Amino acid sequence: MKKHVLIVEDEQHISEVLMAYCEKEGYQAALKQDGRGVVTYVKDNQVDIILLDLMLPGIDGLTLCKQIREFSNVPIIMVTAKGEEVDRLKGLDFGSDDYICKPFSPREVMARIKAVLRRFQPEVDSVIRQSGFELESDKYKVTLKGQVIDLTPIELKILELLITHVERVYSRNEILNLVYSDVSEVSDRNIDTHIKNIRKKIHLIDKEANPIGSIYGVGYQFKTSL
Ligand code: CA
Repeated sequence: MKKHVLIVEDEQHISEVLMAYCEKEGYQAALKQDGRGVVTYVKDNQVDIILLDLMLPGIDGLTLCKQIREFSNVPIIMVTAKGEEVDRLKGLDFGSDDYICKPFSPREVMARIKAVLRRFQPEVDSVIRQSGFELESDKYKVTLKGQVIDLTPIELKILELLITHVERVYSRNEILNLVYSDVSEVSDRNIDTHIKNIRKKIHLIDKEANPIGSIYGVGYQFKTSL
């Protein structure tokens, strides 16, 4: 999805250049040339970053920054016309995330926007957490109560399949087809062996833990301890 950049800038020429650069970079850009209406706009729209000029008609940039910070953590890059202002502004801490001085090159502004957006990107949490287990499939790692369970890649895949579909019962055949890329060399009895090994390895860490249930004549499921 396109990132939504809000440009708050009253100088016609600068705002036109910034709008053009933002669109070229693939951002969805909106422009406000007056301080009034900015707070409402930020409340009503999904804004990803704000480029905020300091000297504005209506409401000035610092006041806007403070007002926005009362309800939002959206990244704000403050734009000031005076170089010496930056140090003072940083010291006062109005809650902005970066500062740019005029005159600036649009390219520099784009680089700053990119850097701030990257800083604010939420980290993708690829950890599966369930009943004391933590599974990170991209690292081939699974722990129970913080202790590593030493699973083979196939065992880890089987556990991942079951743990991400709690209570769902999988037949041996389903597990076989979902876990192996090539099923010609394996039989569904292999699945029983893997399950037995997974259980054994879980018991090494917690003797009471018995999350993988057998449904007689059907298959296996991951049960929550509740
Ligand atoms: Ca201005």
